[in-house]
Amino acid sequence: MYAYTHDAQTGGLLLNNSTSIFSKEPRPVYYRELDILGFDKHYNYVKQDELPYMWAEANCYWYRGLKVAKTKGGTLYTAPELEFILDANNERILPDGETLLSVDIATMVEKNRELLEVIEQVTVKRIFDAYKRYHNKLDIFHVAFSGGKDSVVLLELVKKALPRSGFVVVFGDTGMEFPDTYDVINKTEEQCRADEIEFYRASSHLRPEESWRIFGPPSRVLRWCCSVHKSAPQTLKLREVLGKNDFIGMDFVGVRAHESATRADYDYENYGKKQKGQYSHNPILEWTSAEVWLYIYMNSLVINETYKKGNSRAGCLFCPMGGGKSDSLRNLSYSAEIQKYTDIIRETIDDKKIDTYITNGGWVGRKNGRDVKNNVSRYQEEIIDGCLFITVTKPSTDWGEWIKTLGELTFEYTVEKIKNDYIVKMPASVDKTPQGKLIKQVFRKASYCVSCRVCEANCRNGCITFKKGLHIENCVQCGQCHNIDCGCLVYHSMQLPKNGGRVMKSLNTFADHAPKPDWVRLFFEQQNKFFADNTLGPMQISMFKRFLSDASLISKNSVTEFTSLITRIGWDTEQAWGLILVQLAYNNPQFRWYIEKLPIGSNYSRKIVEAMLTAIDISEKDSKSIVKAFKRLCDLPLGTKLNFGVVTEKSKQIETLSRCKSTLTDNRVVLYALYKFAEACEGYYQFTLTRLLDHAIEAVGISPTQIFGFDRDDMEKILLGLTVKYPDFINATFTHDLDKITLRDDKTSEDVLGLF
Ligand code: SF4
Ligand code: SF4
Ligand code: SF4
Repeated sequence: MYAYTHDAQTGGLLLNNSTSIFSKEPRPVYYRELDILGFDKHYNYVKQDELPYMWAEANCYWYRGLKVAKTKGGTLYTAPELEFILDANNERILPDGETLLSVDIATMVEKNRELLEVIEQVTVKRIFDAYKRYHNKLDIFHVAFSGGKDSVVLLELVKKALPRSGFVVVFGDTGMEFPDTYDVINKTEEQCRADEIEFYRASSHLRPEESWRIFGPPSRVLRWCCSVHKSAPQTLKLREVLGKNDFIGMDFVGVRAHESATRADYDYENYGKKQKGQYSHNPILEWTSAEVWLYIYMNSLVINETYKKGNSRAGCLFCPMGGGKSDSLRNLSYSAEIQKYTDIIRETIDDKKIDTYITNGGWVGRKNGRDVKNNVSRYQEEIIDGCLFITVTKPSTDWGEWIKTLGELTFEYTVEKIKNDYIVKMPASVDKTPQGKLIKQVFRKASYCVSCRVCEANCRNGCITFKKGLHIENCVQCGQCHNIDCGCLVYHSMQLPKNGGRVMKSLNTFADHAPKPDWVRLFFEQQNKFFADNTLGPMQISMFKRFLSDASLISKNSVTEFTSLITRIGWDTEQAWGLILVQLAYNNPQFRWYIEKLPIGSNYSRKIVEAMLTAIDISEKDSKSIVKAFKRLCDLPLGTKLNFGVVTEKSKQIETLSRCKSTLTDNRVVLYALYKFAEACEGYYQFTLTRLLDHAIEAVGISPTQIFGFDRDDMEKILLGLTVKYPDFINATFTHDLDKITLRDDKTSEDVLGLF
């Protein structure tokens, strides 16, 4: 809430009355972190665990109001390097040999007490208000306790706001927690018992050592573990406590907006966003980490020892969402525990990939089951002579149970049993329809289900049980057990790519000659004359022609009607580049890869992107070209006007890459992208916004939301605007839970271009 400064007097932080717009998320630094980073070779300090010596803001270290050092680099197996900050005379700001003073916590707390009390009062009132508004309507209020600093503060505030019998505490034990977290959990559970507050631990019946082997290691896009080890066990635990399957509760969560850009968009309260059918309330949403730490010190709350070892977050020990320096510090403190997971990666992933996977962090980029050892597909789809055939081998559950989750089908299907396997046959026309999607999911579940209980947790009617094998009773076909990636998380994580794992050899389409802004400008100025009169070298012109051709700007060395349209709109406008991007998304595999593999808003280090590419057998040289091309493409109006992406550089070398949300304001471009999507999906003219936002579905069509990074709110506005303005092309409805987009099947994407 409030901004802060570093206080030279106490060596601590000092809040001030101005509002914090951007928090650098400071955290206290104890002696063990100083030792790990090598400060002990330069300074003297007492090796005590009670009081911190410095504060860290990302990779910068502050001592008594001065920025004295920063760290550089660090991977799982390499420690970050320490760099000291120098003054104008090239001397260290903090000279060697100094004896460090610990932070004067008591004085720091006193100096901040007044503002902390204001923040506390506001937050306690907010919690109480939520309770007052809902306590007659909901079945339960629960605090999501993780053992991290934010949840410790959250629990203290809820305790101050609510009666002890008014809420329960639930620790979702993933089994992958930092070892130090369990100490906080034990102490908190004991305290809750003394305070007569119910405290529950929820965990999956599967241990991570089992699930990692069954599902394959998790990755950034295959986060099955969040459902299997976190949300499903918590839902099942609360059902058990309440004896009610369709309970509605409010989860108090310690999410803070300053933690990440994604969380900055969170609201204080929401229904169904975190967990379907449940409320969640984020009371400390606007707190900064400075306030969290000061509040912990003011109230002498328990501190997870992991922070004292230099870890900025608690949570799961080896998470695909981590990386870089954080991995390195974790590995230095918990190498044996981390080795448990790297050993599973070694055991389950194809040997040839291991170094890329572990040392370079490539494991976080796994997209499917292609690199998993001995992974033979047990579910296959094929269209032959107008029929869709699904072959299921060694099914683990009875399809006859799963099929109960579908209502009446509008088509006929047959299931031919061949020993333990079977072949399902249905008309090919159902392939892309909603019922087609569901029946495929039924057979994926039948093939791969390992009773992870996520489907059971999704069923608020309590129809699914795995107690004595799978049984589904009294199903009302609400579809919630199908609201899971690909219908089954094991299938999603282990599925083999549609091309059977064949490598896309042509991914590097521009070699080291991706287009430059000057080439593009000259092309539009000179049009056909450009090819007779330019200064490009033979490789450059060849690669540029590839770009122009894939962008539909030339055909057989001559400009196209599309070029005339783009010239008329203004070749360097965001509309023009929106349309060009859509062409490239469909015609150029390199663009398609950026769009599909680099989700908007995620920041990837160069090394990770290169590892993601080498993991699909792209050569190291080509991987580097593909990374470099990304920067060149961002320098075009594609980046400068449409905001396609950004890179950060250090000493002229790319450090990070990210795709960004588009600045597109012309909704006709989205309409064009929708028609391209429908046409690529073989006439899929009616679909839902939920489908468009589900980027995990493999399809030939690319959702405009994936191309431009628009979220549900943006899309609803865009689609409703298009419905009003172009009723001959589109009709979208989002009322009373209806989510339907209908395009006119007598119109085409070419017709949309006629609207410009
Ligand atoms: S490891 Fe990461 S992705 Fe998996 S449950 Fe933990 S937080 Fe979620
Ligand atoms: S979630 Fe819905 S469709 Fe699935 S078993 Fe339960 S009631 Fe049936
Ligand atoms: S079908 Fe559902 S319960 Fe079974 S393994 Fe897949 S996600 Fe888990």
